[in-house]
Amino acid sequence: KNSTHQKLIEMHEHAKSFFHHILVNTEVGKDAMTYLEQRGISREYIDEFELGFAPDNRDILLKVMQKEFKDGLFDESGLFVERDDGTFMDRFFNRVMFPIKDAKGKTIGFSGRQMPTDQPDKDKKQPKYLNSPETEIFNKREVIYNFHLARPHIRKTNEVYLFEGFMDVMASYMSGVKNAVATMGTSLTEQQIHRLERVCEDVTICYDGDSAGINATNRAIELLTNNTAIGVQVVSLPNKLDPDDYRMTYGTDALENELLHHKKTVFQFKRVYLMQDFNLANESDVLAYLELVLKELAMIPSVIEKDFALTQLSEEFNLSKETLQLQLNQLIQD
Ligand code: ATP
Ligand code: MN
Ligand code: MN
Ligand code: MN
Repeated sequence: KNSTHQKLIEMHEHAKSFFHHILVNTEVGKDAMTYLEQRGISREYIDEFELGFAPDNRDILLKVMQKEFKDGLFDESGLFVERDDGTFMDRFFNRVMFPIKDAKGKTIGFSGRQMPTDQPDKDKKQPKYLNSPETEIFNKREVIYNFHLARPHIRKTNEVYLFEGFMDVMASYMSGVKNAVATMGTSLTEQQIHRLERVCEDVTICYDGDSAGINATNRAIELLTNNTAIGVQVVSLPNKLDPDDYRMTYGTDALENELLHHKKTVFQFKRVYLMQDFNLANESDVLAYLELVLKELAMIPSVIEKDFALTQLSEEFNLSKETLQLQLNQLIQD
């Protein structure tokens, strides 16, 4: 690795420690600490994930870094934004800071969450999460949040849980399901899949229960099944909740035992997903729905899963299993 690379990592490690110190040891970090407490994040996990706080001030990190790094790479680091006159100011301010780490646990970027009290006026609405820009060390398409902490647990269980948000990863981790990672607020990429493929054989997708999360689940299933031999399962969230909302509503124990350990097969997920376009009180809708569902089922390789699904459908729609089997056989031959 070249020296620019090394230097950028040193700068990020220093910034991470600085933000963490502000959060846990200073008066300036008190509101953020209270906010995290209210979200049910205890000190133990604030320390393990090395969360921090960037004060509401545009040059505090700059001053710290100028002192520490005489020839700092202020432009290339992504930690600052350049003013018109060529001087720099802090990119992150008044945000709870999530350090983003590489596979070795070195900090390569940040995501900063807006404080709940920071009510943006409509004209200059700030994003809820602000990420570091792409830099020499930070590539959003490659990085997997929490991979360094999750990796031993992924290897041990031969499985990884994939979440949408950082808080969901932390919620899972706190419930004892530590083989938990997330993408950087973007959809899953091939690079990320190939990194996961090297450490486990199964992926459980656990995205938010809102329509954005359900659509992202479908895209992730496509990408995973088209590009890998990885096994895919899905955890479905009720009532548009995300996994962290679920923990706050029903508790850590329920998150682990009622939610994360209740996985659906891809087929069962699609069956429920496809339902939303039909009014199953109409006979013609039932027929159209069953046609689609059987098409999905025809693509499932497992004979046992096919049989299981046919039994279920026959009971639910009051049709003979033989009829459904005949229809399925036709679709398989086509
Ligand atoms: P919280 O629980 O803190 O409100 P969340 O994780 O539930 O946040 P979502 O709106 O579900 O937030 O978004 C999921 C993920 O998408 C976030 O964790 C973050 O990585 C990313 N994200 C959300 N909003 C933005 C944004 N405006 N810009 C970039 N990434 C974002
Ligand atoms: Mn979401
Ligand atoms: Mn969410
Ligand atoms: Mn959330």
